Amino acid sequence: MLCVENLHYSYGTINALSGISFQVNEGEIVALIGANGAGKSTTLLNISGLLHPQSGLIKYQGVDISKLPPHKVVEAGISLVPEGRRVFSRMTVLENLVMGAYLKKSRVEIKESIERVFDRFTRLKERRNQLAGTLSGGEQQMLAIGRALMSKPKLLLMDEPSMGLAPMLVQEIFSIAKEINQSGTTILLVEQNAYMALSIAQHAYVLETGAIVLQGTAEEIANNPEVKKAYLGE
Ligand code: ATP
Repeated sequence: MLCVENLHYSYGTINALSGISFQVNEGEIVALIGANGAGKSTTLLNISGLLHPQSGLIKYQGVDISKLPPHKVVEAGISLVPEGRRVFSRMTVLENLVMGAYLKKSRVEIKESIERVFDRFTRLKERRNQLAGTLSGGEQQMLAIGRALMSKPKLLLMDEPSMGLAPMLVQEIFSIAKEINQSGTTILLVEQNAYMALSIAQHAYVLETGAIVLQGTAEEIANNPEVKKAYLGE
């Protein structure tokens, strides 16, 4: 479904990605794990069209999307749950969700998408008129996920959904990701919480300072001695 080939990205003189390649098959959850500054967010920003690579290809359903602007990437069926949630804090829950459907013209379609998100996240439904900035961290993460689902993506990019959340909520967010996947959405999951990410993913890649150093099934990666030592605290 998604095939990234030899992707290079630098912020000025800072080399963030030095030729990474990986793929995501339809229906899977693929985890991209790695420490702070490894280039995980940069990878997702390139896929979503918010940054454009200096070289390399990002093929989505066989077509290179690396030069498309973000709204065209959303239109193609990819949406991003950004790091740090980035909800519009002075807007209500409902208004945030409507923002996620900005490419949809039909009111009926927007209403249907809102109902779908509320069915999945009843807590958001109860708080539909609350300002997003006053939600708890977990609720804001749910809103960020809900907002990304408004465009009915085929591929969902999730950037560190567990960041800053209490362990119970981390569990909840990961089971939500699993449910979203089971209902037909492919997921590329970027995480520092390698343990949780590997527990729901089928395949995984380990990114270190802009390069993929390991790849395999989630089970293989979870059992790799280096990974255990560096990322799983063993
Ligand atoms: P984290 O988990 O901390 O977000 P990450 O794996 O997502 O880490 P990136 O945010 O992609 O890593 O950063 C990769 C490299 O690019 C780092 O060295 C970082 O300092 C650098 N970088 C990221 N954003 C910028 C920017 N806007 N300007 C300059 N350098 C940047």
